[in-house]
Amino acid sequence: MEIKKVLIVGAGTMGRGIAQWFAQQGVKVELVDAVFEVALAAQELANASWDKLHAKAKFNEKEIASFKSNLTPVEISEHSNDCDLVIEAIIENVDIKRELFQKIDMNMKKECIIASNTSSIPITTLARELSQERKTKTIGLHFFNPAPIMKLVEIIETTWTDKQLTKDLFDWFSKRSKKPAVCKDSPGFIVNRVARNFYGESLHILESYDQDKVEEIDNVLKNVGGFRMGPFTLMDLIGIDVNYDVTQSVWKSFYNDPRFRPHQIQREMVESGRTGKKVSEGFYKYEN
Ligand code: NAD
Repeated sequence: MEIKKVLIVGAGTMGRGIAQWFAQQGVKVELVDAVFEVALAAQELANASWDKLHAKAKFNEKEIASFKSNLTPVEISEHSNDCDLVIEAIIENVDIKRELFQKIDMNMKKECIIASNTSSIPITTLARELSQERKTKTIGLHFFNPAPIMKLVEIIETTWTDKQLTKDLFDWFSKRSKKPAVCKDSPGFIVNRVARNFYGESLHILESYDQDKVEEIDNVLKNVGGFRMGPFTLMDLIGIDVNYDVTQSVWKSFYNDPRFRPHQIQREMVESGRTGKKVSEGFYKYEN
């Protein structure tokens, strides 16, 4: 399987990390966002990250120069139509993602693979309006945050996905420092389904906002439970809004099963704009 040119749509937390990782694999990456300045800022962040890795001697000067030349922010109306793979990492909204998939289907070369980085939306739902041929090349590629570092990539196939494509992608990622896992196209796939209860039960223990309890629950799960981060630190990192959207999507997909019901603390935090580390305030305060 040859992946030489990738289009990443959405240059937020995930899109920019995915773009950075692909550029490090020697793949040409075009990065677009609804707001072009976001794509430009993503390039700057990737460059700063590579400079740090260079200073730590993780990569040499030649490698860093090649990574930088592989990543290009492009105006959304001006991306190439001959990419081998498109990965969307835009807002977790089914209608907006479906509209984008249809546009890509119409414009991108027919051999191109279309993938979604959605955390929770069934890939079947995103693929069902696409052309018959494209359906066989549509798949979920779910990266984790931070994408250049986290090894797991969930590969989600639909009933239409060409099984050989799944195998080829599995091999492609396995050869390049990732640990892929093939998942069923069910809400939340594997990790986000299990994780709903990691967050949900922690929010139930908290019940109402209390800073001491936030720290206590985080400390217990981290220091005693062996998790790398406690649930509140992790929600702050993901973004309370992003996590709330995923919770709602999984809950609705399981016919409002109470096991997955969102908590009102999540809604209150989103409505008051305390959406986590990216805005310097979530369950904790940050100096960004
Ligand atoms: P984000 O809010 O940081 O970034 C989304 C970006 O998409 C924004 O820059 C926005 O301007 C852009 N955008 C929105 N609509 C667009 C459109 N129609 N065309 C082009 N650009 C558009 O979000 P994120 O955290 O990077 O999440 C993106 C996707 O990845 C979501 O589906 C989310 O569920 C999934 N995801 C998130 C995480 C995480 O930890 N944040 C982890 C895995 C997967």
